[in-house]
Amino acid sequence: MAGMDAFSHTSLSASSAGKHDVTVQYIGIDLGGTATKAVVLSADGAEHAWTSVPTPPLTSEDEVRTFIRDLRFGLGMGPAGGTEASSASVADRAGSAARAEAGIGGTSANAGSVAGVGLAVAGAVDGAGALRMAPNITLDLDLLRDALTRDFHCPTFALNDASAAAFGEQQLLPKGDAPRSLVLVTLGTGVGAGVVVDGRVVPGSRGAAGEVGHITVEADGHPCGCGSRGCLEQYASARGLVRLARERAAADGLPLSPEPMHDSDAYAVFLAAANGNAPAQRAVYELARRLGQALATIACVIDPDVFLIGGGLAGSAEAFLPATRDAFREHACPACRDTPIEAARQGNRAGALGAALFACSQVDLA
Ligand SMILES: [Zn+2]
Repeated sequence: MAGMDAFSHTSLSASSAGKHDVTVQYIGIDLGGTATKAVVLSADGAEHAWTSVPTPPLTSEDEVRTFIRDLRFGLGMGPAGGTEASSASVADRAGSAARAEAGIGGTSANAGSVAGVGLAVAGAVDGAGALRMAPNITLDLDLLRDALTRDFHCPTFALNDASAAAFGEQQLLPKGDAPRSLVLVTLGTGVGAGVVVDGRVVPGSRGAAGEVGHITVEADGHPCGCGSRGCLEQYASARGLVRLARERAAADGLPLSPEPMHDSDAYAVFLAAANGNAPAQRAVYELARRLGQALATIACVIDPDVFLIGGGLAGSAEAFLPATRDAFREHACPACRDTPIEAARQGNRAGALGAALFACSQVDLA
């Protein structure tokens, strides 16, 4: 969980911000495989409340109702509609206040009316908002979306979580620098991406735009869970990096130091590399090269203004970005060779912020 500094107020550069009364609010929900983060933004971009709750299975009315209630309490919003407060028990209200304080440490989000809810989902969401695939989450998206719409009396807009994060990064970059097009590649348990072109999220026809983890970077390479071989995810995810390091250590007859504690303990590999451990350094270098190669492939199709690297491994971006940029320049077509490749700025806040901003943009379009 990020510290309070990470939850400080932000002024939006978004062109969509500032058009509305600041009492109009947008809720962003980032529904992850294990945890859900949510934020309340006002139309001027001020962050009013944050919360984080475990993600339960969301396939029944009861599960969905409890989940939304917990989000409302965490965000300091109280029961639905406000006027229903009399139906909440004293214990419920005390719990609400305590959780709100723990979750947001500040302003109540009660002051404004909610104009839109953005729902970022760890799954493939197509342009019509239909869930095509969600391997890490038990979710009836239509049920949850309908319940949110009823509860907050406003439209709910679903999108892929990486798309939401990319939109959040794009909207929150300083005004003068804000790129119109970017690709945010997330390196974590898996490898994914969000694509924003000309200021708009690109979901893809089947919700699969941004599935860059399955770009082939080595013909006949390591088998991937998708059924193919040599996918980027097998080299640039936490698990991929640990495997590379162990393979290199075995081939060189040198131990990793420190030894990874588990199969996705990428932090240990970065630490070993920083300490001069040769197998770990080779593994990080291979990750960097494969990533640069994949980004060059993406550039041939999207040609974004900038690439951003996010996800858990981005905390060690300085260890691999220089070699990634070198590999990118070697593989990119000449017109794209100078495309910047930078670490993402919003960290694990980007999905919820982007979801709220997406809702704001969609309400604007309506
Ligand atoms: Zn694959």
